Amino acid sequence: MSEQFDTTPGCAARLDAEDPLAHMRDEFVIPVGPTGHDEVYLVGNSLGLQPRAVRTYMEAELDKWGRLGVRGHTEADREPTFPWESYEESLNHQMSVVVGAEPEEVVVMNGLTVNLHLLMTTFYRPSQARFKVLIEEHAFPSDHFAVASQVRHHGRSAEEALVAVSPRPGEDLLSTEDLMAAIAEHGDELALVLLPGVHYYTGQVLPLADLVEAAHGVGAMVGFDLAHAVGNIPLGLHDSGADFAAWCTYKYLNSGPGATAGCFVNQRHLGRTDINRLEGWWGTDRETRFQMETVFDPIPTAEAWQLSNPPVFSMAPIRASLEVFEEAGGMGPLREKSEKQIAYLDHLLDEVLVGRVESITPRSLTERGCQFSLRVIADGHNGLDVFNALESAGVACDWRHPDVIRIAPVPLYNSFADIHRFVQVLDGILS
Ligand SMILES: *Cc1c(COP(=O)(O)O)cnc(C)c1O
Repeated sequence: MSEQFDTTPGCAARLDAEDPLAHMRDEFVIPVGPTGHDEVYLVGNSLGLQPRAVRTYMEAELDKWGRLGVRGHTEADREPTFPWESYEESLNHQMSVVVGAEPEEVVVMNGLTVNLHLLMTTFYRPSQARFKVLIEEHAFPSDHFAVASQVRHHGRSAEEALVAVSPRPGEDLLSTEDLMAAIAEHGDELALVLLPGVHYYTGQVLPLADLVEAAHGVGAMVGFDLAHAVGNIPLGLHDSGADFAAWCTYKYLNSGPGATAGCFVNQRHLGRTDINRLEGWWGTDRETRFQMETVFDPIPTAEAWQLSNPPVFSMAPIRASLEVFEEAGGMGPLREKSEKQIAYLDHLLDEVLVGRVESITPRSLTERGCQFSLRVIADGHNGLDVFNALESAGVACDWRHPDVIRIAPVPLYNSFADIHRFVQVLDGILS
């Protein structure tokens, strides 16, 4: 593949000219950096850029609120507004496409950590004999806190109930073999496996379907945190067999700070009456909801887990964002471009920065999305200083303690020229 690449700016220009998705960048607002120029924005893994259409969708609902007041709940009088009382319905369908789920398996609600708690309320039902939760040692802190507090909520201590799998000594990545071995070892005591789809620190992709098969084989439930997976890699969530999943929408889904999150409940659990769930009026049947009876009649979809009426102003940006994904042709074409960008950056790292920067992200395409977790190994250079120099030079990226610079070329809005510029700036800093 690398024959098609060289290290010249001309190569980046040619790749951009050949890119069928290059025009998608125009759908986004590009921040201006400290240098007074468009930033080389490589931090979409943390906060995705603003789609231009967000303003249209937000303003339409703001105007409607002003014009109609409470009637806005049932009326959608002008394009592109939607009745607030069913604001989530069509959005859930659009979202299910991005994660490869059936429409009834997905609901957009709350925040990511809140959703993890709600779903664990259903899917973590420890018994005297089966009470352990398998996580990874370097789980995102919020996930760790959520699991540890669930365990305590059920009267157990984290020490007795958490099984935390780490990379082997001296290694950065989780070994699938070690995860499988831990699942087998704790089998009879294991109630839940909760793992990321893509690891936030290393960018490693885990084999969802294999993990589900192993966990189900010992009788445990399985949930995934897809914060760094959704909008980054194609997902087949339904086919993976996972029991549940949750994700945020402000990273690769570009829906803005704190935007409403998503979750997935596998079809096999929908419509069940023998299930424990925290309930609210938005989970009960739409036809009878406003009769104000106190009989809970669960919607036979993941929407049964909804508690409150939808926060329209935190969901309108998601509509704009998912429309951009549709316009790009969905995750297939985006991944195709992403793989080319990954190969191009691999080439530049090998040719220009070898011996000075190493990537701890897996090399194999099946084990990574667009994030690169880079470690500075050049003599006499400190990673944090290098990160600060990148930021001052107009490259937006992020620093993750203790020693990783994360960058993510996002196929929706990053150009091949962005990738070239990043390597050129980093080369300059390290020279
Ligand atoms: C970004 C991220 C979060 C953030 O949680 P919020 O509830 O959205 O604040 C949690 N877990 C993981 C793995 C993340 O990457």
